[in-house]
Amino acid sequence: MKFFYTLLFLTIPLWSLSHYHVVDEAITYQNKPYRAIRSFEKEKILHHLIVNEMTLETHIIQQRIQKIDSNPATPYQKLLDKYTQPPYLLQNYGVVSIESDKIYITTDLCPSSQKGYEREFYQKLIKHYPNPVEITLFISGKWIDKHPQAFQELKKWEDQKRLSITWGNHTHTHPYHPKAPLANNFLLSKGVDIEKELLGVEKKLIEQGVTPSIFFRFPGLVQNEKAIKTLKRLGLIAVGSNAWLAKGEKIQKGSIILLHGNKNEPQGIEKANILFQSKLYTIGSLLDIVQ
Ligand SMILES: [Zn+2]
Repeated sequence: MKFFYTLLFLTIPLWSLSHYHVVDEAITYQNKPYRAIRSFEKEKILHHLIVNEMTLETHIIQQRIQKIDSNPATPYQKLLDKYTQPPYLLQNYGVVSIESDKIYITTDLCPSSQKGYEREFYQKLIKHYPNPVEITLFISGKWIDKHPQAFQELKKWEDQKRLSITWGNHTHTHPYHPKAPLANNFLLSKGVDIEKELLGVEKKLIEQGVTPSIFFRFPGLVQNEKAIKTLKRLGLIAVGSNAWLAKGEKIQKGSIILLHGNKNEPQGIEKANILFQSKLYTIGSLLDIVQ
């Protein structure tokens, strides 16, 4: 019985993707400046993942792209430059808050052996806040593989406009070694192909009909110069946090709040449930970073 149950909820790709490559082309699309950051074949037809240089919204398009001269002063390029500057901190590099009165909820979906996910937390957000509720999911490929039903439910809430999900990248396999020092752990572990980790989960999301954003969270919030430069080459922006609730950090105006949606950190979810029920906060989208 269990075998059939599992079969029912397998994440079967909607499409087969091939030739998934990193590109960097300034283009116009619907008379607006965009950047093509990936090219791939879906059902043997050439597609691109493109970023709006002004708003950071991403789309997948099928038509031939129209190249233009790149502009170093677009909000997207300025952010890419700003968030790949030294000093290359070992932990919590990148955007940790946004200049605004809102708060920004991010939930990490690292691979986990836990059954299920923090379903009630997402349901409470939907119940207490105007829909669709803005949320960023930093998702890993391995979590999707192990939790197909949860993944489909989150997608369903997005389709029903209960959640407005920014699909953030949290690597494909999320390497982690409990005893290794940080400098040799997570993405910095021996033998890890950083580019492969970053592209693997994107490809999986697109195969599932989801458009990846340009936001990325380093596993363990751990990185080095090489990893940050890879991120820049791939056109992604690192998002850290100044309010990791399970670690006792407090929410401030503009905080990017870090929670785990995979049941690995229930103490953070408990705190969030109490805080969010008070409805003291307005929840924003990470795209506010360009406002
Ligand atoms: Zn993680």
